[in-house]
Amino acid sequence: MSAKQARPCGECAVCCTYMGISDPQLKKKPLIPCPFLNKNCTIHKTKPKDCIAYNCLWAQGFGLEEDRPDKTFFIFDEYPKIKNAAQAKMIKPGQKDTPKGRALLQRWSKLLMRPIIVISYSVPRLPLEVIGRSV
Ligand code: SF4
Ligand code: SF4
Repeated sequence: MSAKQARPCGECAVCCTYMGISDPQLKKKPLIPCPFLNKNCTIHKTKPKDCIAYNCLWAQGFGLEEDRPDKTFFIFDEYPKIKNAAQAKMIKPGQKDTPKGRALLQRWSKLLMRPIIVISYSVPRLPLEVIGRSV
């Protein structure tokens, strides 16, 4: 989604579906697919500033190829409320408690070397759990 990425998004369109955007050019509520999404962004060259600024850590090159958000059901990005914490936004309810979800969160916490706040897109203001070093 961002302007400069280390990896292409491929078939993933998770942030364009789940993220809320309040840019004057595009006011989109969370959990609703963007009207400009058709497999990929159809206004790539003129997309809103919020989309250009968005920093998905997988797209920035962190983690394994198979950690792509549409495959793991987590988007990792910066946690806005606490400096030096990342967040894992869970897009599939309960995924954090599955063996695959636990292993992914533990691995990313070690990889990023900072705590990861787990949130759910269905209740975004309520952190569900902190993985890794305490904040
Ligand atoms: S969640 Fe990450 S990988 Fe998926 S479309 Fe957004 S920026 Fe690309
Ligand atoms: S404008 Fe493009 S990059 Fe932004 S949310 Fe819509 S489809 Fe995604």
